[in-house]
This record gives sequence, structure tokens and C-alpha cells, in this order.
Amino acid sequence: MPETPSPARLFPLFADLRGRRVLVVGGGTVATRKVEALHDTGALLRVGAPLLDPALAAQAADGRIEHLPGSFQPAWLDGAWLAIAATDDPQVNRAVAEAGEARGIWVNVVDDAALARVHLPARVERGPLQIAISSGGGAPMLARLVRERLEAQFDESFGALALLLARHRQRIVARWPEPAARRRAFERMLSGPLQGLLRLRRHIEAERLLDVELAPARAQAAPRGSVALVGAGPGDAGLITLRALRVLGEADVILHDRLVSREVLDLSRRDAERIEVGKQAGHHSVSQERIHALLIGHAAAGRRVVRLKGGDPFVFGRGGEELEALRAAGIDYEVVPGITAAAACAAYAGIPLTHRDHAQSVRLVTAHACEGEDRTDWAALAQERQTLAFYMGVSRLELVQSQLIAHGRAPDTPFALIENGSRPAQRVVHGRLTDLSQLARHHAVQSPALLIVGEVAALAGTLHWFGAPPLGAPGIALADAA
Ligand code: SAH
Repeated sequence: MPETPSPARLFPLFADLRGRRVLVVGGGTVATRKVEALHDTGALLRVGAPLLDPALAAQAADGRIEHLPGSFQPAWLDGAWLAIAATDDPQVNRAVAEAGEARGIWVNVVDDAALARVHLPARVERGPLQIAISSGGGAPMLARLVRERLEAQFDESFGALALLLARHRQRIVARWPEPAARRRAFERMLSGPLQGLLRLRRHIEAERLLDVELAPARAQAAPRGSVALVGAGPGDAGLITLRALRVLGEADVILHDRLVSREVLDLSRRDAERIEVGKQAGHHSVSQERIHALLIGHAAAGRRVVRLKGGDPFVFGRGGEELEALRAAGIDYEVVPGITAAAACAAYAGIPLTHRDHAQSVRLVTAHACEGEDRTDWAALAQERQTLAFYMGVSRLELVQSQLIAHGRAPDTPFALIENGSRPAQRVVHGRLTDLSQLARHHAVQSPALLIVGEVAALAGTLHWFGAPPLGAPGIALADAA
């Protein structure tokens, strides 16, 4: 029985190729990719092949590479440190490997782990910081998958951080000559706001912060707290951004609304303190002033605070007021957008918010403001060829229905009510505007629910894909409503 030889135990290393000769055999797309990857290293590149792809030919013409024309000859390897066999002819690749072996030159053979004596790893590059991944040649797809995960996990700030630390390497070593003390200092610095500043591209402040750290006999200044105003999206944890995931992972304190799902909260640092300051229709558990005081208090005490809100913090989220309070108190902040309920509910109900034939604009409206003095411009909302997305409207459906119709919107305009959008319990009720409040009552629609009014809402009947099919009066086609 043929047996797969067990893969070699590879020894990882990074090579300084400046001024060293590297031979690439092959003139096609694979060779081109390898040449591209080698250009930054300062290696002297020779490419041997009867013919070069146009991209390589251009590089040969302007002297960036040297072209060795014709078929492979072992003499091409003269003076080379490293050779890469990148032809589509296994025999040529083997000849390169054997000639390299005879001369004691390292040879990589593209796509042939058995012949190659050096492997080129999958890489994640962040400036001078490089992460190389190898599966030993046995499962390159797995290495690629790991690479994708790492790409997501390590953002550009790691590159900036590596550059900054490299630039101050000598001062760092001088400041903490003892390796153990240096390591502790690094741990402290890297768990502080330094990287956060780099992430926000505030390089000058980052530099200044490092200066303070490096100053001899540093007065033990309190760590600087900050607040991240973060959109948690509509509930499905897969819909938060990578940035949100990162700040949740670094948070000391999380102040969250009730709308934020457990799934999303579970992505936060395990020992972070969680404070629910949620509001549910009708009950205001914590006043806005109290929320401001909590944010400022925790941040001023040096903690990294995440203010986590359902959807997007700047869409009916009072995010603006919170930033004003933070600014007035001199607290650092950042804002991480989230997927707002209108975008999420529309997507998960199969309703395109705009449509070339039916809706040229979309409005995000709060039905809440209808309370007391009604400042809603119903005449504008009743206009055709637009989609309306009403937030916080469950208790005011009757008003929305009667005002829109009174101001001229056709009574048979389609609507869709999406309850618990994107969550396992999602329900969609759809029908015609004139039946809105009655259908909502019939199906006992509860908060949180989003109301979409406009021709596009009828598409929920055919384009739905998530959860149960929509409930309500079926059979409304776009044609009926048009
Ligand atoms: N900042 C949030 C909105 C807060 S107002 C955002 O950008 O989405 C709260 C209202 O949002 C709810 O009353 C409801 O109308 C809507 N909403 C939020 N999440 C929802 C969900 N998962 N399904 C349906 N509606 C939702």
C-alpha cells in the first residue's frame, strides 16, 4: 500500500536577502507573484525562462530583474543563495531542485512540498511585523484559513506599533536594561492606550505617550481612561464589526442597552464589569444624565469603557448627547458604527430599501417623536417613491397608518413589520397600509420591531430567506401596489 511520507519537521526562519542573489525559474504568473514578493527584500533577482510574462518583461526592461533566457541550466544557480522553481513543468522543477541540492543552495519548489527544501509560508504582514504560517506543506488550505483569521485579528495598528517600538528600541533597552523589567514595562504599555491611539491614526499622541513612559523615574501617572461608543448591531453577533470585537475584548467596563443581545455581550472580555442601563419602551431604567455620569466616572478612573448600543450609536441612539458630555468632561472617545435596525431588518426580511423602479430614497423615522407635540412632517413622509423605516413604532402604528393615509399615501401601500430582526425569533408581518394596525394586533407584534412602509415592502413575500415566511395578508404583488 502506498504510504504518504510523514511531513518534515520544518525549522522556521526569516532571511535577510539584501544584496543576495535569488534565482526564480519560470516566467509565468506564479513566477511573477514570487518575484513581486521578493522585490521588497532588496534581493538581486534573476529570472530564468525562455519567455517572460509582460509584467516580468517590463521589469527586465527597466533593470529591476535580470532575465536569463532559454531553458534551465544548472549554471544559472551560480552565486545564488536561494532558488525558486516556479515553472509548470515538473521535470524542470525537479532539475532545479537537484542542481540546487548538488550545490548546497536552498530551493523552493512551488506546489511540491516533497521536492522543496525551503517552504514559502503564508504570511500576515503588518509593517515590520510578520506572521508566517506553515502546515509543513501537507495542508496549504489550512494555512490559508489560519492566515485569514489572523488577518482579521491583527489590524494595521500592529504595524504602526512595531515601527514605533523599533524606532525607540535603543531608548527602551536603555530605560529597562533588565529583560524582566523590560517585559513588565511592555506588558503595561501594551495593555494601555498606546495601541488604541495608533489605531485612531493619532501617531503624534502615541509618540508623546511613549516618551512619557520612557522618561527616567517616571512619575506614576494614572492610566488614561477612554470611552468607545459602539454599535452592537441588531442582535446577530455575526453582524458586529471587527473593530467592535476588538474594543469589547479590551474593555474594563461595559455599559449596555437592553436591546443588546446576550450573544454580543458574550464576545466581551470575560472579567469586564457589565452594567445594564437599558431602556425599554416606557421604562427608563437609568436616566441619560446618570449614564453620562457613569461613563465619565469610569473613564476618569482610568478604565476603558465601552458604551454598547443596539444597532448604530448615531441612529436614534442618543450617541451625540453622550459624546457632548464626554467632550465637555475632557474624556477621550471613539465611535464604532454598527448595523442599524433598518439595514438589518430589511436585509433579513428580503426587502431592498431602495429599488430602481419603486423607491429612490429611504427615510429613517422615529415614531416616538409623535408623542405630545407632533413635529413629524407627515406630508413629506406621505410622498411616493420613497421607503420609510419607522423605529420605536409598535405602540403608534395606528397613528402612522392614519396620518400617512390622511396625507395622501395610497391605502394599499405595502408595509412590513419586522419583529426581532436578525434574531432567531424574527417574525415578519406584511400587508397593506390600511390593515397595518389591525394585522399587528392580530399577530401581537411586540417591541423591538421595525416598520417599513413602501412598495419595496411587498418583496418580503418573495425574497424572504431568513426564518419563517412572512405572516399576514399574502399575495400582494408589486404590480398591485404600483
Ligand atoms: N440605535 C438603534 C435604534 C435604537 S431605537 C439602531 O440603530 O438600530 C430602538 C428601536 O430600534 C426599536 O424600537 C426598534 O424599532 C428598532 N430595533 C432595534 N433592533 C431591532 C431588531 N433587532 N428588530 C427590529 N427592530 C429593532
